[in-house]
Amino acid sequence: MAKGILFVVATPIGNLKDISARAIEVLSQADVIAAEDTRHTAQLLGHLGLRKNLISVHEHNEGDQVAPLRRLLDDGKRVALVSDAGTPLISDPGYRLVSALRAEGYEVTPVPGACALIAALSASGLPSDRFVFEGFLPAKTAGRRATLSLFVQESRTVIFYESTHRIKDALKDMQTVFGGARELVLARELTKTFETFFKGSIDQVSAFVDEDDNQCKGEFVLLLAGAVTESEPVDRVELAVDDLLKALLDQLPVKQAATLVARLSGVSKNDLYQRALTLKGE
Ligand code: SAM
Repeated sequence: MAKGILFVVATPIGNLKDISARAIEVLSQADVIAAEDTRHTAQLLGHLGLRKNLISVHEHNEGDQVAPLRRLLDDGKRVALVSDAGTPLISDPGYRLVSALRAEGYEVTPVPGACALIAALSASGLPSDRFVFEGFLPAKTAGRRATLSLFVQESRTVIFYESTHRIKDALKDMQTVFGGARELVLARELTKTFETFFKGSIDQVSAFVDEDDNQCKGEFVLLLAGAVTESEPVDRVELAVDDLLKALLDQLPVKQAATLVARLSGVSKNDLYQRALTLKGE
C-alpha cells in the first residue's frame, strides 16, 4: 500500500479569507488533521463547513505523537498538520514531527499561506532582500537584553515576535541595547480590524505604545532596521576596483588599464596607476 502524505498547512493569522483554495482542498480531503489546539481548529473547520477527525499535536506532546502519526501514514492516510494561526513550525509546534518523518523517508509537503513575519516585512518599508527572524525574545529582561545584544552589529533587517504582556518591556530593552535612534517598525494585529503599522525611531515607537493603551493590545511583529556599517561600502569599492584592475591587466598595458578603471570608478588615475604597478609586482 502506498504511504500517506503529511501536508503542512498554513491557516489565516486573522482574516479568515486568507486561507488558500488549496489549503481548503487539502483539509477537506485529509483523513486526519493534527492540530495545535483541536477546539481552535474545529472552529476554523466549522467556518469552512468541514467536520474532520482531529488529533492534538502541541509542544508538550509532539514527541509522543510521532508514532501514532507514523502509523496513520503507513496505513496510507492523508494527514494535515495545522497550528492555531499562520504557518506551522514558525514559532509553533511541528518541527520534531516533520524532521522525524522526513528523516524516515515519509513524504512531507507544504501548503503555503499566511505567516505574520512575512506579512509584516512585505508591508514594512524596511529592506526585505536580506533579513533575520529571531522569533520570540526571552521573557525576562536579562535574557532579552543578552539576545538583543547579539544583533547590535547585524546589518540585515531583524524580525521578532512579541505579545501584549511583554511589548512595553521589549521596547524599553531595545532602547537600552540599540539606543533610541535606530529605526523600528511595529506591525500589530495584521489582517485584523485594528491592523496598525507604526514606523519610527525606537524612542518614537516606545512612546506611541506608552501613550495609547490600545496600542499594546493584540499580536505584534517588531522589525528592526539593520545596523549601518560605514566601512562596508568602502571595502566593497576597493575590492571591486582591484578585481577590475586585475582583470584588465591581463589584457591591457598598465596605463590603459588604469585609465579605464579611473573612468569607471571615479578613483584618481595616478592612484590606480600606482596600484596597478603593485598588482603587477613591478
Ligand atoms: N505560526 C505563526 C506565523 O506563521 O506567523 C506564528 C505563531 S506565534 C505562536 C504567534 C505570534 O505571531 C504572535 O505573538 C505575534 O508575535 C505573531 N502574530 C501572529 N499573528 C499575528 C498578527 N495577526 N499580527 C501581528 N502579529 C501576529
